[in-house]
Amino acid sequence: MTLGIYIQVPFCQTKCTYCNFHTGVVSRDRYQPYANAICREIADVPEVRHLSADTVYFGGGTPSLLDPAALAEILGVLSANLLLEAPEITLEADPETITLEKANSWLAAGFNRVSLGVQSFNDRELQTTGRMHRRPDIARATKTLRTTGFDNISMDMIIGLPHQTRESWEQSVSELLALRPEHISIYMLEVDEGSHLGKESLAGGTRYSAPAIPPDDTQAEFYDSACTRLAAAGYDHYEISNWALPDRRSRHNLKYWRREPYFGLGAGAHSFDGKTRWANVHDSAKYVSMIEQGISPREQIEPVTAEQALEEEFFLGLRQLDGIDLARIERDYSSLNANGAGARFAAIHRQVDSLHAQNLLDREGERLRLSPKHLTISSSILAELLT
Ligand code: SF4
Repeated sequence: MTLGIYIQVPFCQTKCTYCNFHTGVVSRDRYQPYANAICREIADVPEVRHLSADTVYFGGGTPSLLDPAALAEILGVLSANLLLEAPEITLEADPETITLEKANSWLAAGFNRVSLGVQSFNDRELQTTGRMHRRPDIARATKTLRTTGFDNISMDMIIGLPHQTRESWEQSVSELLALRPEHISIYMLEVDEGSHLGKESLAGGTRYSAPAIPPDDTQAEFYDSACTRLAAAGYDHYEISNWALPDRRSRHNLKYWRREPYFGLGAGAHSFDGKTRWANVHDSAKYVSMIEQGISPREQIEPVTAEQALEEEFFLGLRQLDGIDLARIERDYSSLNANGAGARFAAIHRQVDSLHAQNLLDREGERLRLSPKHLTISSSILAELLT
């Protein structure tokens, strides 16, 4: 089994108004003990020792806040405990945290891919949502990474930020394409009710500019426009929210959509070994304390039933625009009738026929895909598929 390894770094410089992740703004004094705990967790996890991994992803939070020496140390412990096979090693970074010195250290440590949290090229949108970088930081950071030698850069963008207009979105996409990153992720803003923006959306108020969030149909137009423009610029739209230049798909994220095994290390990190899913405790101080005492930080350990696995095949697999192979799924799950998967497959199949008749799913033989015309309502299509 070739694993993906995910390292969670749950620290940020500020809290973005739309964010409800388990991340915190903490004293820098807590960074090194946290990095030490990750190293110890790697060395203490018996399952991964001597297995192979071909992707490593440092996400957060803002992993680029950690000292480059600490990041290098974590990679060193990983390679001492696992066989890293031509790995894709990604570091999430915020543009304003990047210096030439840091970028050189990351490359020397083994990182070969940087995922930049760009979100927008519009300063009003960045400022309103509490981001620390401004438009010039993005080009400067990209130039620094290119100068250093990084030839695999991803950029994250968000549709639906407060004050985003058709003009500002098209301008952001123009500036994004001008920088020619190898990979682009575009997410629709999810206003979680636990975030500052979400609370304001529910309770009213203007402090976080919730009333200036563009309406859903406008956001859908922004997405459709991005699909057209990125395709024209040579990007392959391979997942609902992801585009890549040739051979630059995110190898790590593909593992999630294909239900391949991955191990998450650090506070709140999730893991899947093909049969069971689990997560580490979310609280970073508690995580460090448990690791220091030699206590496993794992919780929420849940075996995946055959029926759940079958549903995951659809709602994860169909996120990929290549779609899924119904014949393969039927083959894999038909012997699991005793566990209810066979009956579940028949029920999902009826929904497939119904959604296909409504042109919401495309089907060519045994290959099933989301209709490219309806990607903006993919969540409701997938929900209906699994009712
Ligand atoms: S940088 Fe990312 S993880 Fe941190 S607060 Fe902002 S959105 Fe959340």
